[in-house]
Amino acid sequence: MIHLLAVLGNPVEHSRSPEIHRAFARQAGIGIRYEKIPVPAGLFEETARHFLDRGATGFNITVPCKTDAYRMADSLSARARRCGAVNTIVRDGEGRLYGDNTDGAGLLRDLTRNLDWKVAGSRVLVLGAGGAVRGVVRDLLAASPEELHLYNRTHARAAAIAEELFDARCRALGRAELDRGYDLIINGTSASLGGETLDLPETVLNAETRCYDLMYGPSMTPFCRWCREIAGCPVSDGLGMLVEQAALAFRLWFETPVETTGVLALMRGGPGPEPVPEPDPAPGNPG
Ligand code: NDP
Repeated sequence: MIHLLAVLGNPVEHSRSPEIHRAFARQAGIGIRYEKIPVPAGLFEETARHFLDRGATGFNITVPCKTDAYRMADSLSARARRCGAVNTIVRDGEGRLYGDNTDGAGLLRDLTRNLDWKVAGSRVLVLGAGGAVRGVVRDLLAASPEELHLYNRTHARAAAIAEELFDARCRALGRAELDRGYDLIINGTSASLGGETLDLPETVLNAETRCYDLMYGPSMTPFCRWCREIAGCPVSDGLGMLVEQAALAFRLWFETPVETTGVLALMRGGPGPEPVPEPDPAPGNPG
C-alpha cells in the first residue's frame, strides 16, 4: 500500500520535506508518495479537500497556510490550539482531520539533542513575531530559560505575543533595550529569505552566543554570517528543525518513531541512507 502525503503552501517548489519523508519511509519500511502542492492565494481549503479526495493519509502545511489549516482541522492538539497554527494534518479512520503543530518540539529537539545547546537557565532572545515564532515560543519557555526576550521590527506584534504568554520571564523589547549579550539568539524572522541582514546592535552578541536561524538554504544565512563575522559565534541554520518536526509528523501519521541523525546528514549532503526512488508524478501534478 502506498500512502499519499504532501506539503501544502506557497512557495513549496524548494521544499525539502519530500526528501526527508521518503528517507523516513524507507527506514520504516512504509510505502509513501509525497507531493509538493502549491496553494493559490485564498484557496487553501479547496486545495486541501481536493488532495484528501484523492485518498491522502495526511499532509504538512507551510507558509502562509498554517492558520488556514488550524481553522480547517476538526480537532486539535493542545499545542496547536495554543499557538493557533497547524503544520501537520492526519486523517483518522472516520475521515476526521486532526491538526498538530510539531515546529516547537522540532526546534527544541534540534537545539538540545543535535546541537547540544542548552536552553535551561539561558538568556534567550527571539527575533520576529510571525507564525514561526508563535509556533516555538511556548516550547522554548517550557525548556526553562532564565529569560526569553522578543524583538520584532513591528514592536506591537512582539508585545502581543508577550502579553498572551503572560510569563514573568518573557518580555518584548524595543530596539534601544537591546543593550546586552544573550546566551542564545533565535532568528524567527523571514529577513534571511530575502537575503536581508537584520538591524541589530552588536551588543547582543558575545563569542559564546549560540545563534540559530530558523531559515535554511544551500549557503550560510545572512543572520548566521553576521553573527560569525561580528563575534565568531557558533551558528546553525534551521535544517535540523525541519528534519525533527518532520519526524514528529511522520510519527503522527504512522505511529512509528524514526531516527533523524542519518537523515539530517543526508540532507546536509553527507553519507545518509540511500534516497528512495520516486514514483512517477501523475499528469498535471505540481510535485
Ligand atoms: P511570517 O511572515 O509570519 O513572519 C515574518 C516575520 O519576519 C515578522 O516578524 C516580520 O516582521 C519579520 N521580518 C520580515 N522581514 C524582515 C526584515 N527585513 N527585517 C526585520 N524583520 C523582518 O513568517 P514565519 O514566521 O512563518 O516564518 C519565518 C521564518 O521561519 C521563515 O524564514 C521560514 O522559512 C522559517 N521557518 C522554518 C521552519 C523550519 O522547520 N526550519 C519552520 C517554520 C518557519 P514584521 O512583523 O515587522 O513584519
